[in-house]
Amino acid sequence: MPKVVSSSADAKPTASAAAALRVYYCICGEFNLVIDKTLAALPRRKTDNAVIIQTQDTEHGNARVFKLNAVAATEPIVFERPGGYERRYNFSCPRCTLPVAYQTTPPPVKSAPYLYILPGALSQAQGQLPPDAFDVEEPEAVSNREGDK
Ligand SMILES: [Zn+2]
Repeated sequence: MPKVVSSSADAKPTASAAAALRVYYCICGEFNLVIDKTLAALPRRKTDNAVIIQTQDTEHGNARVFKLNAVAATEPIVFERPGGYERRYNFSCPRCTLPVAYQTTPPPVKSAPYLYILPGALSQAQGQLPPDAFDVEEPEAVSNREGDK
């Protein structure tokens, strides 16, 4: 048998796209994300190991197809970064309010070129802890510090 390589031209868009979609759940079991690629296959941020989801088409590549089911924060958390500060607008699970993702511009989602999924926040298996759930090392938030008051 010759190797069959299906081209995108004759692929059935709806059927193949639906088959390739991955569903991710919060550790509380709530559905939070559906995306066209596994998070494990996406690049990670060097600073905090967050998964990078490209939200807009650029010369570096096309946006991922995804839908985030999360509550957007309207106020940013400010993080100290080498050479300056970064504002992060968190997206939280609508059920347990745990933050699952963030972007660097105010909501809605996809207003920034990238959406970041917090490491260990989401799992493909409903009700199961992701393998990296305990590996989270968050940089200290500047504006959320306890004991400064
Ligand atoms: Zn949750």
